[in-house]
Amino acid sequence: MRPEALNSLFIEVDALEGVGPKLRRPLEKLGLTRIRDLAYHLPDRFVERRAVDNLDEAGAGENIIVSLTVREHRASSGRGPFRALAEDRLGNICALTYFGRASYTARKVLPVGQARWVAGRLDQYGQMLQIVHPEHVSESTSAPMGQLREAVYPLSEGLTQGRVSALVQQALKALPEMPEWIEPGLMERMKWPVWREALIEAHKGANASARDRLAYDELLANALALMLVRESNRTQRGTPLAGDGSLRAKLRLPFALTGAQTRSISEIEGDMAQESPMLRLLQGDVGSGKTVVALSAMMIAVEAGAQAAMLAPTEILARQHHETLTRMAQGTGVEIALLTGRDKGRARESILMGLLDGSIDIVVGTHAIFQDTVSYRNLALVVIDEQHRFGVGQRLMLARKGRRTPHTLAMTATPIPRTLTLAQYGEMEVSRLDELPPGRQAIDTRVVSVERLGDVVGALERHVESGQQAYWVCPMVRESESDDLAAAEARFAALKARFGDHVVLLHGQLKPEVKDAAMERFASGEAKLLVATTVIEVGVDVPNATLMVIEQAERFGLAQLHQLRGRVGRGSEKSTCLLLRGPALSETARQRLALMRETQDGFRLAEEDLVLRGGGELLGTRQSGDTPFRIASLEQIQKLLPLAHDDARLLIERDGGLAGARGNAARLLLYLFERDWGVQLLRGG
Ligand code: ADP
Ligand code: MG
Repeated sequence: MRPEALNSLFIEVDALEGVGPKLRRPLEKLGLTRIRDLAYHLPDRFVERRAVDNLDEAGAGENIIVSLTVREHRASSGRGPFRALAEDRLGNICALTYFGRASYTARKVLPVGQARWVAGRLDQYGQMLQIVHPEHVSESTSAPMGQLREAVYPLSEGLTQGRVSALVQQALKALPEMPEWIEPGLMERMKWPVWREALIEAHKGANASARDRLAYDELLANALALMLVRESNRTQRGTPLAGDGSLRAKLRLPFALTGAQTRSISEIEGDMAQESPMLRLLQGDVGSGKTVVALSAMMIAVEAGAQAAMLAPTEILARQHHETLTRMAQGTGVEIALLTGRDKGRARESILMGLLDGSIDIVVGTHAIFQDTVSYRNLALVVIDEQHRFGVGQRLMLARKGRRTPHTLAMTATPIPRTLTLAQYGEMEVSRLDELPPGRQAIDTRVVSVERLGDVVGALERHVESGQQAYWVCPMVRESESDDLAAAEARFAALKARFGDHVVLLHGQLKPEVKDAAMERFASGEAKLLVATTVIEVGVDVPNATLMVIEQAERFGLAQLHQLRGRVGRGSEKSTCLLLRGPALSETARQRLALMRETQDGFRLAEEDLVLRGGGELLGTRQSGDTPFRIASLEQIQKLLPLAHDDARLLIERDGGLAGARGNAARLLLYLFERDWGVQLLRGG
């Protein structure tokens, strides 16, 4: 049970003033459902605004607040923008410009003849001054003074900066005091503020010390939880599984295993033969051949008379794994089933029966495979593909499925810097696939300005005519950004006009059946071109696809670009990756793209990305998907994770039951970051 001290933080956002069903959806899209989430919704950056008396005092490009009187509404015909022409104290005219749906509200908040405080960035548009999508419009009569600093929050459609900021302020008012869970010596050395103050400060300005403290909390929670897992695993009993190799000998592999694959399989075999459950991470770059290692491990389990389950992060990937595994295991007599959230009715029932009576040996699926209604006869091995997409908590849920704790093999392609592996996966042994299968050719990577789009499409045409396939990736940095989605759809329409039915579209918001159909047409070779957002980042394997175009490549993280690029270069044909860049690039962006051209070593990319970003962006860019952290940036992980790891180990050594004063505070921390499965293990052990 969650400690009472945290109750006020876990109240749903509905409890706040002004949050109704209409706001709930966009808040949910950002993961903001409770007071806690709002308090931790940290600004991306801050803008400084100057309050000016009139527009002559302001320069183009400056963020200002000024009082303007609305003189005229100008709606353009068709899809053009809406403009409200407004006048300052001296009679200078400025256009307040709105695109799309925003124009409806703009008319209402800017009535003709009325004076309003308007905040936004002043730009020169032809002969005219204009502010596009002013960030605030208010009728308050008190004049703001001097320099104003304002937080800029990540948004989703339907939210404004003003709204989010007001909600965050409400959440901050509700923050309780917390006992300190950080080691006193460290607090003193770092001069960090206490928890409550750190949160408040982090919303006020670019306060590195406050941000670091909050990041450290998250890292400490993670390190502690992992250590508790490891401790508890030590006391668990699993089933020793000794395979006789009979099924593995019958596998139909279209290739010989690499040395690294053989070594990893024997490390896994050694672990599985023990009574204490395996906790092993298989780390291998994209395309290094993790799937066949997973299959071998699962075959060992089946040889020993037990069942194995493989968890994939997406439906598409689960399907693909199922096909690959079934093909390689043809003729072995091993029964491999697919179970996803979409299987309903009779089909689902029959799979559930098969798992219960043991007629199914291996099941591949999404998280549907560990729902409460699923029981196994004797599950003894769990494989988790793309481990970084899941929390450790989910893994533990799965672990409870067996009567004894199953062996766990987690797989990841995340090229986290070597120095961080221990700290991030501290509870696991590690096997590395540090060797790519033979015959792979380097991917010819080029950076091309978007101004040469015509040439790129021409090259694409020749490529498809030669019988090969291609990916076209559009950026979708946040799943919620509708502009990105619109851009992807527009690109799809344009390419379809050119290539006809040979083009399919794939993005996260399509219906599952539509996604499958698209993926299937592409995998079968019927469709030649797959236009996609980053949903294809993980795992998809179509060796005949040998060209990838990535639009607005500068918007992606290097690790992500690397994962994306790993979708090509999977066969023996020469592959090409075209990184389309915008017309103007910052120096850092230029260097980062150059690095992509230079190397295909995921570890090197991860390490250099850290160096290049160091100090670049003011607040650091939080990672989505690549790490299990939401608050800590890559730099903060680099800097603070080793400290958190040592701190956690010391605490567990001194107070393994988390019963002392600091131990109790640490429990709060685990709940706060929803690593409470760590605490639950304590009780069980
Ligand atoms: P990962 O999951 O590590 O990204 P996959 O398991 O999907 O990689 O393998 C990538 C590709 O390499 C697949 O097409 C697979 O058939 C092939 N492959 C795997 N192992 C070998 C090997 N030893 N020799 C040649 N090709 C291999
Ligand atoms: Mg894979």
